[in-house]
Amino acid sequence: MIYDVIIVGAGAAGLMTAIQAAQGGLQVLLLEGQKKVGAKILMSGGTRCNVTNKAVSEKDFNSEEIIYVRNILRSFSNEDTIRFFSGLGVELVLEPTGKYFPSTNSGKTVLEALLRKINQAKNITLLCEHKVKAVSRDKEGFILQGDQFHFNGKNVVLTTGGLSYPTTGSDGTGYRLAQSFGHSMVETVPALTPLTTQDNDFKSLSGITLEVQLTLVADGKRCISFRDSFLFTHLGFSGPAALDISRHFLKAKGKKQVIANFIPTYNENSWGEHLRQLGTQNPRKTIRNVLIELMPQRLADIIFKKAGIEASLPMNQLDKASRQRLIDRCVQYPLDVTGVLGYSKAEVTAGGVDWTQINPKTLESKLTLGLFFAGEILDVDGRIGGFNFQWAWASGYTVAQAIIKHRSSHEQEDH
Ligand SMILES: Cc1cc2nc3c(=O)[nH]c(=O)nc-3n(C[C@H](O)[C@H](O)[C@H](O)COP(=O)(O)OP(=O)(O)OC[C@H]3O[C@@H](n4cnc5c(N)ncnc54)[C@H](O)[C@@H]3O)c2cc1C
Repeated sequence: MIYDVIIVGAGAAGLMTAIQAAQGGLQVLLLEGQKKVGAKILMSGGTRCNVTNKAVSEKDFNSEEIIYVRNILRSFSNEDTIRFFSGLGVELVLEPTGKYFPSTNSGKTVLEALLRKINQAKNITLLCEHKVKAVSRDKEGFILQGDQFHFNGKNVVLTTGGLSYPTTGSDGTGYRLAQSFGHSMVETVPALTPLTTQDNDFKSLSGITLEVQLTLVADGKRCISFRDSFLFTHLGFSGPAALDISRHFLKAKGKKQVIANFIPTYNENSWGEHLRQLGTQNPRKTIRNVLIELMPQRLADIIFKKAGIEASLPMNQLDKASRQRLIDRCVQYPLDVTGVLGYSKAEVTAGGVDWTQINPKTLESKLTLGLFFAGEILDVDGRIGGFNFQWAWASGYTVAQAIIKHRSSHEQEDH
């Protein structure tokens, strides 16, 4: 049997590609290396699965070719995602942060709905524990080989993910398959991964969360800033702000610093002004009482320690030099970031299959016609907020439509 399309990897992108291709009447074979499919869907969003976002644009992503990313995102929008899941019986609920989650607050609902659709389709064969080790071409199309199988297909889609959380099955095999067809790679680094530190004071705050603004400075130049929730951990820093900055920290060249503003409603000037005003308006108030209105008490205590200031000092006794130290520690603290936790704890992979050898409209290889890519395997990574799944849905949809269109134009030629 020669399948119309063989999809390698049954994560978010592979499942979407299979469903869409089957709806277009194609005979689909979906091969998954793991025992079970969709591991990341189950663990995503703290097991709640942040499926998409209220506002999605290319600005939420990183890639060497961001315009191509924009075009794919426009071909299947967040509204299309909401409609698609509603059609599968999954209601998505918008949260104040702009994130959409299933109303059940469970990634299981999302995965089960996708699998129901796959199982209902008569023209999809899903085989788990079928890890593809080699893909080659023959006259009819492609041959896919694993340890004890080989299958033939007219088209192949690589939806094997990147290198993040390799225990879920995305171990980089897909990159090697792409490279075997001559595809080049944009260097990969772990993205959306916690930052590490050797600062024991901050490590002792493990479990404390607050809103912060993190700014990456490289060789004295501000590169990028994220204002979001932030979490101290026993190894360093996590939470959306830290996760979002991690790939930029790794990619930046030169002397890098991550500057934390622990009171992001203020900047250096406005915070300085506020402290000066308090000194005259509320002279007896202690510095400690000022700070604990704005941040967790234990963080305030660490900041006093680091600034070398007695917390019980009344505001009117804060001299100019101490005030400046307090300003610096509160709103422009250079965190001692030693690195990141790496792929084992990265939600996505930055970099991947290079766009230069890919048709940006169809996601088909320019080097080998009939070979397609969707999902995280490509050089695209989104920030926290449901953007990475939106990319998986949109790119999977795009590939399926391209293969369907290709087949119908061939059928017309045959007539
Ligand atoms: C902890 C965590 C939380 C996350 N939370 C969110 C979130 O809430 N919202 C969001 O938008 N994104 C989230 N992400 C990111 C999101 O899960 C990924 O971007 C998305 O799953 C990528 O989909 P994919 O199909 O491209 O790759 P993957 O989901 O990695 O799927 C690839 C599949 O291919 C299989 N495979 C690999 N090689 C082969 C081979 N040679 N043969 C056969 N099969 C193979 C793998 O086993 C795997 O099943 C999270 C990620 C993690 C790790």
